[in-house]
Amino acid sequence: MKEYTASIHIHSVYSDGLKTPAEIAKIAAEHHVDIIMMTDHNVFPVGFNGYYTNQDQRVLLMTGEEIHDKNRQPQKNHLLALGITQDLSPAARDPQKLIDAIRSDGGLSFIAHAYDPEMAVIDEADLSWVDWQVQGFTGLELWNNLSELKIRVKKNWQVPFYALFPQFMALEPPAQIRTIWDNLLKQGHNTLAIGGVDAHTFRFHFGPFKLEVFPYSYHFRSIHTHILLERELSGDAGVDSQAVIDALRRGRVFIGYDLAHLTHGFHFSAASDRGQLEMGEHGDLEPNQQLTVELPAPAECRLFCNGEMIDSRKVTRQYSWAVKHAGVYRLECYRRYLGRKRGWIFSNPIWISDD
Ligand SMILES: [Zn+2]
Ligand SMILES: [Zn+2]
Repeated sequence: MKEYTASIHIHSVYSDGLKTPAEIAKIAAEHHVDIIMMTDHNVFPVGFNGYYTNQDQRVLLMTGEEIHDKNRQPQKNHLLALGITQDLSPAARDPQKLIDAIRSDGGLSFIAHAYDPEMAVIDEADLSWVDWQVQGFTGLELWNNLSELKIRVKKNWQVPFYALFPQFMALEPPAQIRTIWDNLLKQGHNTLAIGGVDAHTFRFHFGPFKLEVFPYSYHFRSIHTHILLERELSGDAGVDSQAVIDALRRGRVFIGYDLAHLTHGFHFSAASDRGQLEMGEHGDLEPNQQLTVELPAPAECRLFCNGEMIDSRKVTRQYSWAVKHAGVYRLECYRRYLGRKRGWIFSNPIWISDD
């Protein structure tokens, strides 16, 4: 399989960003990101899809949309629509209709920052997802690089500190969102996870200084969604975009916090004499079945089955667990970075059933 690095959930001048999609693509290429997914708020700018190059690096730009009902107060329920072909914000008022419209358009829907509490210091409202009766969405944005600020800030001084040094802020996907995910998996939902950067980029004024905080260059080095493709990207933007969306739809992706240590080469699978199951796949419980992780660097691995942690151990490069019963299995990996143990890799699930 070929592994590509995607940066998902990016705002441009069309909503909350400071650069054009083309300028953003150049910065992404500079940081060796292979794919960027633009998601401006309730707008679908056309004419930007395609490959962009910066010296010998190329990046595939795919336009999606972050949609919410602007008439709702507070403006909760943000949904990422990826792989769509048109502006679907007119359907924003009814989240279920919106999810259905995205699917009809061939796209995928991921609930953005499902837990996103109020942050009074910077006058930010609670923008969590609340309409949990919806069905048929593709998955959750498990880790959002910007929204995490609203969870980590406990004291006022931390706002300028994290704005200037965001690498000290990113810790792990919020426990609240991991719990939501585990509950959905436990209830039998086929819910997938991606990581998003939510690149907003602000100009902040610190006394006489004017600074750009959370710049694109930071986002492009931090939380990525790593996409595993059957074939190499061909250079044909239309064909490649479809391959990327298909891989996301199948759950052939993992979340990697590449600033802590590069996550390329991570592999989580279930193998038996009958064959191998990759992330996102469903299969039967088999004799001598084993879940195996391969890591690019040592980490603490936590294995979850049906939402419960069933093992936690240090893994140097590779480890296998015998599969004793059916369930939905997923893996979390943690590493120390800047003095703290931080979330590093979050796999998508493998579903093993015995019926
Ligand atoms: Zn949002
Ligand atoms: Zn956003």
